[in-house]
Amino acid sequence: QATLPAPAAPADSPGSVVTMSDRTGLPSRVPYLIIGSGFAGMAAARAIRASDPLSKVLMIGDEPYPPYLRPPLSKELWRRKDDRVKAMLSPLGDMRRNSWLFVEPDSFFIEPRRLHLADTGGVSLWKGRRVIALDIADKRVTLDSGDRIEYGKCLLATGGRPRTLPVFDAAAAQSPEVAARTAYFRNIDDFQSLRNKANQAKSVIVIGGGFLGCELAVSLTEVAKKTGLEVHQVFKESGTLAHVLPPHLSEHTSKFIAQSGVAQYPGERVTSVDWDSAAGQVKVGLSSGRSLSADLCLVAVGIEANTQLAESAGLEIDPGDGGFLVNAELEARADLYAAGDACSYYDVLLGRRRVEHVNHAEESGAVAGRNMASEPADPDRKRSTYQHQSSFWCNLANTLAWDAVGLVDSRLETQSFFAMPPPASDDGAAGSDTAEDYQYPGVVFYLKAGRVVGILLWNLTDEIFQDKKAFAPSRLNLARKVLAERQLADPAALQALAREFDVY
Ligand code: NAD
Repeated sequence: QATLPAPAAPADSPGSVVTMSDRTGLPSRVPYLIIGSGFAGMAAARAIRASDPLSKVLMIGDEPYPPYLRPPLSKELWRRKDDRVKAMLSPLGDMRRNSWLFVEPDSFFIEPRRLHLADTGGVSLWKGRRVIALDIADKRVTLDSGDRIEYGKCLLATGGRPRTLPVFDAAAAQSPEVAARTAYFRNIDDFQSLRNKANQAKSVIVIGGGFLGCELAVSLTEVAKKTGLEVHQVFKESGTLAHVLPPHLSEHTSKFIAQSGVAQYPGERVTSVDWDSAAGQVKVGLSSGRSLSADLCLVAVGIEANTQLAESAGLEIDPGDGGFLVNAELEARADLYAAGDACSYYDVLLGRRRVEHVNHAEESGAVAGRNMASEPADPDRKRSTYQHQSSFWCNLANTLAWDAVGLVDSRLETQSFFAMPPPASDDGAAGSDTAEDYQYPGVVFYLKAGRVVGILLWNLTDEIFQDKKAFAPSRLNLARKVLAERQLADPAALQALAREFDVY
């Protein structure tokens, strides 16, 4: 009878040696430390594990959840029934059946106290903790619990937090009622709190005409269908998403949101916030002199990168956009990387950028993870350069959905091409900005110094495209190719390009 030899214990690799504290039983030295448990952090953990298969990775995050997708929190989740939402918000049980929100169930992650015991390595998630100081010289972080951890390589994937408005801060400091009725929105807890409060309220004022303000205003109309909630939206621009869309598409978006039942106040800033005790509502004064009162205010005026660790670490911050300054390999200092919303990186094609979308978080996290795990002793090692042109999308309705790549900023010159409603007067793409009905597909080119630097695909889904051309690259990849080729933007070339995107 043959006896199979016992499998050999895996040899320690530099990435698999974890030291535990005798005092707390928690890790005191790890080869890979990831600060932040969002999409960038998770993508980095996966990339490290793929490159260094026995590696032990410790991820620290201040949220009580494992990594999850944020985009559904302002969109899809508002259109689901209560029991479905409950299942989706649970990181337990059969994730593939219940939830596409979480990347992995809770059970995927190794308990921090057991990380040193994992023979083949893995990812440990230390939840509900913040890193409050970073010492680059000693390669050590300090947690809010007082624990200290030394690292071999560290990633800053700290994301961002909602920007506040001083006028709301001042009012909330004076009045607990204003504080209780002012909401910000970033995470699962914010979603649950806003949903509960909106269900109780008769009226809500959304401040902000950006992505979150628009998506949540439309999502709150789902509550309005059941409860009669009044939804108001105040924004300083003349149209919604005006920082991204050219004026005709911003106007079209505003019309759509208004038709969904949102009362809009364009060109307005909030000048005062008070508690109206007689009405039991928050009173919001606007720059035109008029005022609005409501049970609830939702402030959605952008995010700030979480770069508080820069001070203790002596790290450089992008003076324009915020974010830890990193090179094209996403390195801030030796053995220290940054990815996702919190980094200002050097895009070799388009220059320095800070991007706040999930595809960027995922792709930049993966590049940072690969570079963290590349073998330092290997003189021929190749670092990955972060060259991916990340995409993002906005979906307000089936006929108001778009994807974009590159610099999509309405301050740039734009050229739009739209399919004309049938019968079309010509057989091809309509010229710039002529179509009145923007429920038809279109493409917008953003131009800088005569070249295409951004592309927005309006109501053009990839599924339709792939049906038409069997082996065609997806439209987003075509857009990425156009950017990479640094296309010159004379009108004839743009018209021809619009046809390549199937806009006719
Ligand atoms: P945003 O940058 O899209 O829009 C900010 C809005 O706030 C703009 O209308 C701006 O004019 C306004 N604003 C800024 N300062 C103001 C001030 N002092 N007073 C009044 N208004 C002011 O940010 P957001 O809408 O808050 O979204 C938050 C984050 O979530 C962003 O990172 C965004 O990219 C992300 N997000 C993305 C999507 C998507 O890609 N579809 C959806 C939701 C959220």
